[in-house]
Amino acid sequence: MTPIFQTSTYAQSGLGEHKGYEYSRSGNPTRTALEECLAAREDGQYGLAFASGLAAENTVLSLLSAGDHLLSCDDLYGGTYRLFERVIKRYHVDADYLSASASVEDYEKAIRPNTRLLWLETPTNPLLNLVDIRALTEMAHQHKLIVVVDNTFASPYFQQPLHLGADIVVHSTTKYINGHSDVIGGALVLNNADLYEALKFHQNAAGGVPGPFDSWLTLRGIKTLAVRMRQHAENAMNVARFLAEHPRMEKVYYPGLPSHPDHELARRQMSGFGGMVSFQLKGTYDDVARVVRRFEVFSLAESLGGVESLVCHPASMTHASIPREIREARGLTDTLLRLSVGIEDSEDLLADLEQALT
Ligand code: PLP
Repeated sequence: MTPIFQTSTYAQSGLGEHKGYEYSRSGNPTRTALEECLAAREDGQYGLAFASGLAAENTVLSLLSAGDHLLSCDDLYGGTYRLFERVIKRYHVDADYLSASASVEDYEKAIRPNTRLLWLETPTNPLLNLVDIRALTEMAHQHKLIVVVDNTFASPYFQQPLHLGADIVVHSTTKYINGHSDVIGGALVLNNADLYEALKFHQNAAGGVPGPFDSWLTLRGIKTLAVRMRQHAENAMNVARFLAEHPRMEKVYYPGLPSHPDHELARRQMSGFGGMVSFQLKGTYDDVARVVRRFEVFSLAESLGGVESLVCHPASMTHASIPREIREARGLTDTLLRLSVGIEDSEDLLADLEQALT
């Protein structure tokens, strides 16, 4: 097992002579093991680990300069949207967002002379929309854009964006990759050596790195990624089918349901449909508030991808940083709930849903 190199600095042999490591912001052996493991999971050449998913995202944005522009989809993790709108805009980097139903032509029309980056999230958080990574990447590369895919929801077990042409894969390793709700972390994986050097430079220059213990915990979590993902997906399919038949449902979102508008794309682009299910409840905010209080197996909490089942109310929790009018226009209404379906016995999960909804 990789040891936890709980060290900040390393004895050097002589001036300009070190043994591979000098200072743990620039590199640490436990972190190196994690970075190599992350690269292998995505079948990429280079991996970089960070102290959070957002630190990883911020490092990608360091590739941009004042006056540049990026394109993205409008159903994004709220923290990513906040980073685009409230942090990088102050450095004069602009962002535009396309709706879930936008075609490749719509994306192409939105490209400006100063557009440098296409940022995709698929499936999206929390509405589980998909975008066609291969088709968008082919178009974006004709315009010399860098294509970034946030692969947090699918995990590398179900989707490998580098194989579909993407340039950089982003993860919040806090979620499925670590899988046990005990670490905050992020990752970038890529194949291009020049981009890797630029990102690695920023990782050290800005310093958003994970500590050795968090790196070790994440490595330990990765060992069971495959078995966890299979169970998450099986349980999520059972939950989605159960909810789809339930009279209290206004709408159920799960890419594994044949009724999902991107079901065919999901079958092509992913090797499984993942563990996230969202739904709109018939009723009001007060009904939703009563349902979440009644859950006994699902815990009301932010985050996702851990072995235990969670329920989240995006409008007041993960996506509260998006202004209400924009949020509601995107379908993130007060009656939307998002489930991170865990690996418990699915009979227990269905029984909990039934009693809470009744
Ligand atoms: N990307 C997605 C899809 C997320 O859901 C999250 C967090 O919820 C992040 C990125 C940010 O990751 P972190 O919370 O590890 O900074």
